[in-house]
Amino acid sequence: MRSRYAAYALQKIDYLVATTVPAQQPHLNTAAMQQWAQQTQWAGLEIVQYLPKVGKIHAQVEFKAFYQTTAGRQAHHELSTFVLISQHWYFLDPTLGQYPSMKQPCLCGSGKKFKQCCAPFLI
Ligand SMILES: [Zn+2]
Repeated sequence: MRSRYAAYALQKIDYLVATTVPAQQPHLNTAAMQQWAQQTQWAGLEIVQYLPKVGKIHAQVEFKAFYQTTAGRQAHHELSTFVLISQHWYFLDPTLGQYPSMKQPCLCGSGKKFKQCCAPFLI
């Protein structure tokens, strides 16, 4: 999570893509991510809370990412979900909208049905 914040600040879009759930990577709008990273003047990160076990393979981080605008310091407040795939944590992006149906295998590759795995964190 901190490393993803740093990647935004350093405009390392490849890292942001690589740390998103692999099945979601093709749907990311890297041009928009690049533009956002470039145009934003980052001004700090505050971890509000870390929830290491919201499920067997899910964890959540609530954070505020601060950035500077002409109107002053603003905060982007977010609750991010991460899923454990092959011993690595991947960001589960809730903004992409392209999901399997509830009874299909989950997009994270856990082998469980989508409904019983990542769906509650996405829909
Ligand atoms: Zn899943």
